[in-house]
Amino acid sequence: MATERTLSIIKPDATKRNLTGKINAKFEEAGLRIVAQKRIRLTKEQSGEFYAVHKERPFYDELCDFMASGPVVVQVLEGESAIAKNREVMGATNPADAAPGTVRAEFAESVGENSVHGSDAADTAAAEIAYFFSGLELVG
Ligand code: GDP
Repeated sequence: MATERTLSIIKPDATKRNLTGKINAKFEEAGLRIVAQKRIRLTKEQSGEFYAVHKERPFYDELCDFMASGPVVVQVLEGESAIAKNREVMGATNPADAAPGTVRAEFAESVGENSVHGSDAADTAAAEIAYFFSGLELVG
């Protein structure tokens, strides 16, 4: 197994309900280290750029509005197989399908307002980390 880094976002539905600490505790309990973190407010344009891969999906506009609706916490998680491990801790996209104990099972409000984002592969993780952080901000 290799040490990896992945990009995580705590979404507006979760920051609004003051859940940043509870979600971070789940990452840390799973052995993921938060090696960079900042709270920012995305514009709708930035949200659209970040989620450009979903441009053709029917929920794209709703997703961009949601991601710009309040603060988000963007973070870099590091650990053994961090990309897959974070996806496990997050749970399925739809909280109705998420395994018990996962972030989405415990905290997500709906398939759209589902509390967290996590990169899904090594190439997207690298691109998404570089979208939000400079090398100087990553302290392992
Ligand atoms: P993820 O990798 O588990 O986050 O899921 P996807 O890459 O498939 O989708 C990206 C994000 O789009 C999800 O996390 C949701 O916030 C949103 N999304 C996905 N499916 C739907 C949907 O059917 N309706 C709405 N409103 N949002 C959705």
